[in-house]
Amino acid sequence: MMLMERSMRRISSTVWFFVAAYFTAFSVGALSQVYGGPVTSPAEHLGRPVGVDFELADWKEESGYFFRLGEESENVITRRVGSTTEGRDFLISVISDSTNLADLDELKKYARIIADPRGRSGEEIESAIENGKVFLFVSCAMHATEAAGSQFGMEFAYTLATSDDEPWAIARKNAVVVLYVTNPDGVDHVTEWYRKTVGTPYEGSSLLKLYQYYAGHDNNRDWFMLTQNETRIVSEMLYTEWFPQVYWDVHQQGSNRERFFVPPYRDPLNPNLDPNIITAIDALGSRCLADMTRGGFTGISTGVSYDMWWNGGNRNVPVRHNMVGILTEAASVNIASPMFIPRRELSNPRGLDGGYAPSNQFPNPWPGGWWRLRHIIDYEMAFGSSLLGSLSREPETWLRNAVGASRRSIDRGLERAPKAWIIPSDNRDPDAVRRFVEILLRTGVEIHVTDEVIEADGREYPAGSIVILQSQPYGQHVKDLMEVQRYPDGAPPYDVSGWTVPFLFGIRRAEVNARLDGEALRRVENVDDAARMFQGDERVINGKGIVAKHPVWSSYHSSAWKRVASELQNGTPVQFITEGLNEGLFTTGIDPRQSDFAEGIETMPRIGVYSPWSGSMDEGWLRYVLDTNEIPYVSVKNESLRAGNLGEMLDVLVIPSIRSQQLDEGRMPGTIPDEFARGLSPEGANSIEEFVRGGGRLITLGSSSEWAIDLLELPLIDVTREEGAEGFSCPGSVLRTIPQPGSTMTAGLGPATAVFFSGSSAYRLMTKSEIETKYGQVVDSIAKGEPNVLLRYAPTRVLMSGWIKSPETIEGQIAWAEVGYGEGTVQVFAFRPQYRGWSQASFGLLFRSIFLP
Ligand SMILES: [Zn+2]
Repeated sequence: MMLMERSMRRISSTVWFFVAAYFTAFSVGALSQVYGGPVTSPAEHLGRPVGVDFELADWKEESGYFFRLGEESENVITRRVGSTTEGRDFLISVISDSTNLADLDELKKYARIIADPRGRSGEEIESAIENGKVFLFVSCAMHATEAAGSQFGMEFAYTLATSDDEPWAIARKNAVVVLYVTNPDGVDHVTEWYRKTVGTPYEGSSLLKLYQYYAGHDNNRDWFMLTQNETRIVSEMLYTEWFPQVYWDVHQQGSNRERFFVPPYRDPLNPNLDPNIITAIDALGSRCLADMTRGGFTGISTGVSYDMWWNGGNRNVPVRHNMVGILTEAASVNIASPMFIPRRELSNPRGLDGGYAPSNQFPNPWPGGWWRLRHIIDYEMAFGSSLLGSLSREPETWLRNAVGASRRSIDRGLERAPKAWIIPSDNRDPDAVRRFVEILLRTGVEIHVTDEVIEADGREYPAGSIVILQSQPYGQHVKDLMEVQRYPDGAPPYDVSGWTVPFLFGIRRAEVNARLDGEALRRVENVDDAARMFQGDERVINGKGIVAKHPVWSSYHSSAWKRVASELQNGTPVQFITEGLNEGLFTTGIDPRQSDFAEGIETMPRIGVYSPWSGSMDEGWLRYVLDTNEIPYVSVKNESLRAGNLGEMLDVLVIPSIRSQQLDEGRMPGTIPDEFARGLSPEGANSIEEFVRGGGRLITLGSSSEWAIDLLELPLIDVTREEGAEGFSCPGSVLRTIPQPGSTMTAGLGPATAVFFSGSSAYRLMTKSEIETKYGQVVDSIAKGEPNVLLRYAPTRVLMSGWIKSPETIEGQIAWAEVGYGEGTVQVFAFRPQYRGWSQASFGLLFRSIFLP
């Protein structure tokens, strides 16, 4: 197919030549002359040197170049593989010798055999190694403010396609590189804002919004959850089409430490990672360090900052798929503006003690001076050159390495426990199961279904249950998503320490020690087939005065709230049945005024989402969760809140997790044009207070709850900040919470809910004397008595997965409370129920706080 595409393109782009060739009786040789002309360099295309100070390329320029390179060079194919979140083209450029490109389908077959050698003869595998090429994926500028990456990508592609120097020429022969800009939307947003501000007092100031529509910088936490278009596109290429052996993720970090980080990574090492993949990472990184040092590059660090524990990153998930995952981090400039960094302002790489001096992890410190966009590109080009040199000098080594890792994963799944995981078909949330199956399939995981009742480890599981065997090439990835993470004591993690997806989704899964491969398992290829038994939301319940012809649906189902919002928008009130049942049910079939067991939701609330002029990832994830559930809202900015009379436009205001100081003060005047400066204090805060007192509902998530407690003088205290709590730490784990009975808000919830805790809080009620000391009598006059506690952290064994120090600080304390205030209410969440789009089991808590009376 690729070959045909290629021929088609030759014809369409050069019809005149084709026709001329026909009439002058030139044959095939003449056709190849199409590529004989000069190949435009990125500098010629841009009309300026690549990486020149104060200039960025936008996506039109960059995508134009990648297409042009594909048209002019026989060693490049550029094609569109999908759409970004905001609808731009997502492109890949495939770069290799033209004979390899003509043979791509065959080369991909070899890569597939190497990634999954099961059922292949020894000869087939040897042939794949002998005839195969090393596949290297290069991800550029996924963080769009790390702006050198996309210009580097153009230069790297051009040099690899055209240079006759080594290692470029041998790399074309022995490797196939697939290169892409991972966040084209962000390239445009950053370039547009930079061009607007360069040469003004606001040059290099941060964006007014997220560079990735929902995720911002968290786009590099999405690689196992696949909530975003860009992550889905790349993941499917990696695990279902190309199967590269090596992955390079090109990033930048802060400006004042090392110039460039290369692997090895620091500890801890996640035990699910293949040892020979780790040693390959270490060898390639160390060789780059040696080559770059010989080439005169200084200030390169290794073995610092970036650990090999967490999952979800652009390099971390490939490593769990037996791919050599490499991260580089260059010191940033001020977007594209050069920086002068004197020696005295330089710090050691994070984690290295002592003064700014040579060490084994930092052998040749940079002396300080000017640091420019072009320098970053030079470091990245040097790294890329060394990496390609290593890969193409001994391609067999890396292909054999990949086969070995795949085999070990398959064997480990047969030898070690658990042998499999079962997702019983009587799970309470079929929508969550479907979503989980979808992301597993997209990341290349094999899934089976049992058509009969199955017995394992002394338990029976119903027909239709999903079975995932550990013995498969990507079994270690599955294990890492399924198991309880036990982060080792020591330094805190670089990112999170726990992420067990079935917990985050509220899915019941069993780890099975028995071997199930002899059972009647049927391999399934798509979500519908896998989750056939996980359906049937519609049902009719007897009694309770519910008219049978009306639909009834369970609040346990992730899609329940989408339906509630849809009915309300159609003008149909929805009733929430709160009593006499184990689970909360919705219906449109009873009149709650005539019943004492149902609460009516009469109309669609007008929802506002607070959006600061700085971009907030938590706000982005809030929008993501609302949008994917088709729940309409408006984004409200400082100025519309300061304008007062909020009740005119809103029933509910949700403030995502933002620190108090940022909410109050926003961006400092003088650092940004005036219309974007300052925050909610005092006018915006006052109008929010008046909104709640007048009957509005305020919902605060995570950090912003502290702000609401202070603003409305709520009788809650954050126990994680009290004296004696200094030993408490929980930087990113799955915790167990217990819904408290006696409220509509918690009616029909299960016995426990998993929430994600990441630098979050826990509250206790103030004593009467604390209230009097802190607030005087104000609370008695406005807040309606005691807060209604809706959710508590579990009193014991609060940690479900990850790492927590001094858990007793928060055990049994408040995770979610409702406080009456004037005519309105405040819903105070101590955590972020929509965390990164990961914590699906707690999305429903957020929806309850928005919709339920
Ligand atoms: Zn980055």
